[in-house]
Amino acid sequence: MFQNLNKNDKNRNDKNLKMMGISAIILIILFVYMLIKSDHIIQGNSYYFGIVFLFILMLTAFGLQKYKESIKKYIPKNKFQEELENSEAKAQEKTISNTIQAVKTDTTFKDVAGIDEVKEELEEIVDFLNNPKKYKKYDVSLPKGVLLVGPPGVGKTLIAKAVAGEASVPFFYQSGASFVHIYVGMGAKRVRELFEVAKAKAPAIIFIDEIDAVGKARGVGANDEREATLNELLTQMDGFDGNSGVIVIAATNKIEVLDEALLRAGRFDRRVFLALPSKDDRQKILELYLKGKKYNFELPKLASYTSGFSSAALATLVNEALLNMIKRDGKNIEKDDMECAKKKIRFGKKQHYFLNEQEKEILATYQASKAYISKQKVALFDEGINAEDTIYPSKTQLENIIANNLSGSVGLEVILKEPYVVFESELKEAKKIASQVVERYDMATSETLLLQTIKSKLQEKIATNKDEVLKIKDKLLKDEVFEV
Ligand code: ADP
Repeated sequence: MFQNLNKNDKNRNDKNLKMMGISAIILIILFVYMLIKSDHIIQGNSYYFGIVFLFILMLTAFGLQKYKESIKKYIPKNKFQEELENSEAKAQEKTISNTIQAVKTDTTFKDVAGIDEVKEELEEIVDFLNNPKKYKKYDVSLPKGVLLVGPPGVGKTLIAKAVAGEASVPFFYQSGASFVHIYVGMGAKRVRELFEVAKAKAPAIIFIDEIDAVGKARGVGANDEREATLNELLTQMDGFDGNSGVIVIAATNKIEVLDEALLRAGRFDRRVFLALPSKDDRQKILELYLKGKKYNFELPKLASYTSGFSSAALATLVNEALLNMIKRDGKNIEKDDMECAKKKIRFGKKQHYFLNEQEKEILATYQASKAYISKQKVALFDEGINAEDTIYPSKTQLENIIANNLSGSVGLEVILKEPYVVFESELKEAKKIASQVVERYDMATSETLLLQTIKSKLQEKIATNKDEVLKIKDKLLKDEVFEV
């Protein structure tokens, strides 16, 4: 009830201020209209006083509206107001305690099709949770935090659930956004409670979805509440023992915006990357969802035809096709059902990441240029190039990393005769390293010049070897992966 009262109060205040401003504007307009239309010459200052007063009224109304939060700080609160706020905060606190609950999941690795490398990486954690003694015997602790990085719908939540399911441990799901509250201190409190409850139920998995909502670099678009929450998360990550049996898995699709402190040793120091499913994986995912159903089309063909689909989009595709089959009273899923389903998904409410032919061409040209320059394995839907970790990098090695990150963009400029933005993260990485070469390592004098020289070399190399790059592009379009 208090909450409603408070809300009504706020709405009323807002309305009053708006009415004040609007009345002042209307009066000014009427006043000016009257002055223009009136034949009389205005004598006496009272008219002008009137108009100035109205202006002041209008500015005050807008000023109050704009700076009301800062002004409120200087106005002493009366008892009733304080009571209202406390009760509202308490009500929120109560909901927090009620919402931190573990779920028991029966999802296992069998429910996750494809992504074998990801499963392999996470199997160690399952083993640790199942046989902690084996690890404790040698005083080995596992990473406390695992960061799953990848676009939406590739199975980050699903695989985290499967880890909990395989190890039969409680699964605590929290979305990053749910930590960021209106009341300062509530997010931090929620983090504290989450860890307390999980530790009490250990072994357990804490899963924080979209951690970027709370884990953005501090100082960027400063927000006290978010920063306080992030600090608490860091404190909690430091505060528990690696052997406590609590493992925090977090998911994000924007690792580049995360605060560096989150990625440091002892926090989310293990990272697992998930990309859009490859052709083989798409086939496995489709097989899983079509299991026990009759269909009249070739699965490998459907897998080829769905490039760019996320795993979630594939699951929806099969579901929509089945709905279509039921609607026309069929017994088998036909090609047409799939076609209808594809259209529905593409134009439906849910946003999926599909590529049309032209977009595929752009992406393939970008990735082909990258494969040609870096001489590394590249998949059509891979983001980011693997920079080899060198302990003592030479200037040439650093320049090569910059070149690898720029190669895709330069390739597009040379081959399609137009610059395109494909992976912004790679451009940022190239600039970051160039700036380090100049500022930190003192190996060059100008960042712009360094980038320009590398770009020119790339342009020349790609232009003279255009046919080879195009061959790689065709292979990527056909097989979605290219290995040197
Ligand atoms: P993310 O967390 O990466 O956004 P989710 O794990 O929420 O993606 O995936 C959404 C849905 O897509 C899952 O509930 C599942 O139905 C399906 N899905 C995703 N990845 C897979 C996979 N590898 N195998 C089977 N189904 C998958």
